[in-house]
Amino acid sequence: MVIIKKAGQLNRYLNNAVNKPLKKGFVPTMGALHQGHISLIEASKSEMHLTVCSIFVNPTQFNDFSDFEKYPVTIETDIEQLEKAGCDILFLPSVTEIYPNGIDTGIFYQLGELENVFEGKYRPGHFQGVCRAVDRLIQIVSPDTLYLGQKDYQQYMVLSKLIDLKNYEINIRICPTVREKNGLAMSSRNLRLSEQGKEKAAAIFHALEYCRKNFKKEIPKKLKNHALQLLLENGFTIDYFELTDAHTLEPVLIWDGKQPVIALVAAFLEDTRLIDNMKIC
Ligand code: AMP
Repeated sequence: MVIIKKAGQLNRYLNNAVNKPLKKGFVPTMGALHQGHISLIEASKSEMHLTVCSIFVNPTQFNDFSDFEKYPVTIETDIEQLEKAGCDILFLPSVTEIYPNGIDTGIFYQLGELENVFEGKYRPGHFQGVCRAVDRLIQIVSPDTLYLGQKDYQQYMVLSKLIDLKNYEINIRICPTVREKNGLAMSSRNLRLSEQGKEKAAAIFHALEYCRKNFKKEIPKKLKNHALQLLLENGFTIDYFELTDAHTLEPVLIWDGKQPVIALVAAFLEDTRLIDNMKIC
């Protein structure tokens, strides 16, 4: 695996060393890699000629500075895992490589309602920050396909919108959420949980599964109340739990029998904010 830290160097490497017809897959990450990230590398490896992974803890997407400061960094084991997975290029830029003119780029992405609900509502400015970093990374890497995890479903919707807004000719492949044995979605933030916390955190999965299994038997409000109860019993502080239309993210109060539904959740345990989601139907 080639490790490149400078945008110009990566750009030259991709333009010169790589035959143009080769298909490039790109996996943007913030590091502290786990099997969820590696599954994206594997998907890209199986479908593309060349796989580029980036590790960049993007300061502009953290609305809470202490969350940024506490974000886990495990670069040596990240490199080992990427080598093992057969990743071709790791791009490891500094903040100034991504924001050469300073972090306030002055660019505003018209994300519409997506920015006002769920993660957008609870983390003001978060998706603008995500778009700034990923837009710049896309311009440097110019991938054919972007590999993203279902784990960050709203982020996937935001990045689809970014690609539309900028008329980029890039496909998006969304890959299933990889989970621990107890159902907890793998996340870099899980490193901050105690062993007991990791066990309790599986309640998120159980709440989602309950909604999925009982969706046709109970009304959404009842399902949501059951899920909230389960999370509260396990010591969570809840930002949101909602059954939503998978295309619009509008809450589903009465199911019309056809619309695709996804349950979205964000909640704190041991001061750590966890998010998850599940396709319900
Ligand atoms: P992050 O490093 O958390 O910004 O995530 C980088 C990419 O990995 C995003 O596309 C995430 O959706 C994806 N990802 C994170 N956790 C998982 C998981 N448990 N399963 C699948 N993909 C994931």
